[in-house]
Amino acid sequence: MFEIDVTIAGGGVVGCAVAAACARKGWSVVLLEQEAGLGRATTSRNSQVSHGGMYYPAGSLKARYCVAGRRMLKEFCLDHGVGYQECGKLIVATSADQLGELERLHALGTENGVEDLRLLDAGELSRLEPGIDGVAALHSPRTGILDAEGVAKAFARVAVGGGAQVMTGARLAGLERAPSGWLVSVESGAVERESWRHGSRCVVNAAGLWADRVAALAGIDPVARNWSLHLSRGNYFAVDPRHTGKVGHLVYPVPPADGSTLGAHVCLDLGGRMRLGPDYELLAGDPRPADGRFGLDADLDYRVDPARAAEFFAGARTFLPWLEIEDLTPDMCGLRPKLCLHGFRDFEVSRESDPDLVGLINLVGIDSPGLTSSPALAEAVAGLAAEILA
Ligand SMILES: Cc1cc2nc3c(=O)[nH]c(=O)nc-3n(C[C@H](O)[C@H](O)[C@H](O)COP(=O)(O)OP(=O)(O)OC[C@H]3O[C@@H](n4cnc5c(N)ncnc54)[C@H](O)[C@@H]3O)c2cc1C
Repeated sequence: MFEIDVTIAGGGVVGCAVAAACARKGWSVVLLEQEAGLGRATTSRNSQVSHGGMYYPAGSLKARYCVAGRRMLKEFCLDHGVGYQECGKLIVATSADQLGELERLHALGTENGVEDLRLLDAGELSRLEPGIDGVAALHSPRTGILDAEGVAKAFARVAVGGGAQVMTGARLAGLERAPSGWLVSVESGAVERESWRHGSRCVVNAAGLWADRVAALAGIDPVARNWSLHLSRGNYFAVDPRHTGKVGHLVYPVPPADGSTLGAHVCLDLGGRMRLGPDYELLAGDPRPADGRFGLDADLDYRVDPARAAEFFAGARTFLPWLEIEDLTPDMCGLRPKLCLHGFRDFEVSRESDPDLVGLINLVGIDSPGLTSSPALAEAVAGLAAEILA
């Protein structure tokens, strides 16, 4: 058994960013990722947008970490050779009754510190994006796109460079109290199973879709904390490549009033490929194994129902006048680790103070904008870990 300063469960972008931030402090760090590679779960099943931060209530963690995280992420990507493109974003109003909401987002974004936001009238919009129909738009020129899996791996490289041990195919399977922290049980290996325990003064739960279950391993009741994760699907459809280049910005509708999503939008990847999505598909039950067990990503259903094309087409056609339904093919799907299915819920970032839980930091409900926020979240977690390790 060996004594580690910080053990992190989860090698998505958040866990990798936390590992980098902790290794930079000179602490001994172990990162455990149950999949065979890093960043393979929600980190690689999203829109890969580095968000501005104009949607979230002022003062919320989502607003603060998103605005700070976008700047940090851009700098990190440029410094570490990770693909990043500041393509900009337009939130497009297609009727006069949406103008009020556009103005509200402009004011909120400005209050949150989003840079260079500007309201455009119909003429300015059509000069900027001739392929888009709309009566007005909110332009966020600093919003960008990036290689999300690449950034997770780059954070992990920084962590390893600082002495961290990054283990893939290694699942945090148990947590027991120890006098100076936690005894961490790890299961590793798909065929020849190996298991071990190590002592860790601090444990960070960055387990994404499984974060409520990792918290339960420590004896926390996720229901009592209101931390049960509700997984909702976000599906994407690819747009026929013959349209590549017709749109140069990310194009979003005015978001639905219930605040559950940003609305299915035009996503671009670094190769200019266009997709529509994600939508917001509620699931009848919990798609994860019952009885609190863990599973791998392969145990989750990520198939996209082709029949959803009609709904995507109807939504997108309001601002993409050239789109035909035949242009759409099912692409991919991501699962959101949501703390509530409707309305706003902030990230849960908690350093446990109960004597039975001291040394544990939980990150629960890290849905969008978790990718954008990851470096800022990681700095905040490193600050909490410093209090534990002091
Ligand atoms: C459809 C969709 C679109 C989105 N679009 C955007 C966007 O454009 N911009 C943005 O900022 N955010 C976006 N998000 C949110 C963003 O993808 C997530 O917030 C972010 O990826 C969360 O990263 P993570 O590291 O917390 O989780 P994950 O990427 O899920 O990583 C968690 C990791 O923990 C591992 N793990 C779980 N349990 C254990 C265990 N017991 N032991 C070891 N490892 C374990 C998992 O295998 C997984 O790799 C979107 C999300 C969805 C679903």
